[in-house]
Amino acid sequence: MPQYQAVKGARDIFPEESAQWKYVEEVVHTVASLYGFSEIRVPVFEYTELFQRGIGSTTDIVGKEMFSFLPDPNGRSITLRPEMTAGVMRAALQKSLLSTAPLHKLYYIGELFRKERPQAGRQRQFSQFGAELLGVSSPAAVAEVITLMMQVFQSLGLRGLKLRINSLGDKDDRHRYREALKSYFLPFQEMLDDSSKERLEKNPLRILDSKNPAIKEIVAGAPRLYDYLSPSSVEDFEKVLFYLAERGIAYDIDHLLVRGLDYYCHTAFEVTSSELGAQDAIGGGGRYDGLSRELGSSTDVPAAGFAAGMERVLLTMEKQGLLAALTPHGPVAYVVIQQQELEDHGMQVAWRLRKAGIRTEIDLAGRSMKAQMRDANRMRAAWALFIGAAEVTTGLYTLKNLVTSEQSTLSLEAVLELLQEPASGELQK
Ligand code: AMP
Repeated sequence: MPQYQAVKGARDIFPEESAQWKYVEEVVHTVASLYGFSEIRVPVFEYTELFQRGIGSTTDIVGKEMFSFLPDPNGRSITLRPEMTAGVMRAALQKSLLSTAPLHKLYYIGELFRKERPQAGRQRQFSQFGAELLGVSSPAAVAEVITLMMQVFQSLGLRGLKLRINSLGDKDDRHRYREALKSYFLPFQEMLDDSSKERLEKNPLRILDSKNPAIKEIVAGAPRLYDYLSPSSVEDFEKVLFYLAERGIAYDIDHLLVRGLDYYCHTAFEVTSSELGAQDAIGGGGRYDGLSRELGSSTDVPAAGFAAGMERVLLTMEKQGLLAALTPHGPVAYVVIQQQELEDHGMQVAWRLRKAGIRTEIDLAGRSMKAQMRDANRMRAAWALFIGAAEVTTGLYTLKNLVTSEQSTLSLEAVLELLQEPASGELQK
């Protein structure tokens, strides 16, 4: 075994897989632009306080999962981003984006870092794509981000996904509910596990999130947040559901769905894939009107967004056979050198083809003609262009169509014209 291995929870993505990533990314870019979202790229690290304030100190992410470090002995603690929303909101506030236009629709694709126990579909370095709609918070805005997310999944061909949705109400609703939950859980206090006991004190809503079967049983009898919503919160939620129904997006209302992050309000949602086993969440999001104030802004920046896990999307695609249909494009032309002395000429021809925008391969290892042809077929090149002594003297080249085996003799200019094709993406279906 080599001396150095990738860090636990981080993995390499080799070319074949990388081409699949690019395909998913392309779909994200395309669908995001259909909805008028523009890409934002924010730093991989931020000051630690941003996440403490923006995500909430009672969450697992801030409590135990952040990779934080001091850049120098007197510096401020820095953290590798464990999620994107706080960074995007920080960037928007720092640039006073909302003063230039009342609404900003941003999306991102990027790496995140969480110190979780690695397992299938759960890594310490992973990637998300997501969108944030800043400046307007309304049922229409929430429906917009959910629809965008679902259209990405649909464009990728994913099947059997389940969208669960809930309303967390507004601050007052949640305050009333929190008190009701506390009163409900208090008689069960002795039966709670340590983390639930702690949550009872700090954030009883999060007990509803517990995966512990004993706690789940207690949770089953707990009051429902929905029953504590004000009429206007109910109306807000029903409008979101109306939009989803109008667009043919199926959902289940899940009264126990509370997102782990503190700044969510009103609609929260999560999409799961039955292909994924224990870590079955593929994406989720909601409304987070409270975040901007939490980050020190003097004005409210109402907002809604979603984030989806790239690895889990790809895992689901793999399980559903959607990746097998994607094969990397082979080269258009393979320049076959018949004799070693003609290598320089072959290289010059390959360069001409590439300059003309034609994907071209050439052997750099001085292999036999037979080996080059094997290589061309393995790579599924469309054409072989032969470089022999006759070609060099006459300027006429033998071009073989590797699908039909037809051959023709052409000048290099004619070859260039024949092989030039409109630029296409990385993968073919
Ligand atoms: P969250 O930011 O926790 O709401 O996560 C949003 C999505 O990111 C989840 O639905 C997952 O698909 C993905 N995700 C979260 N944590 C991880 C992880 N540790 N490894 C891989 N994917 C993750």
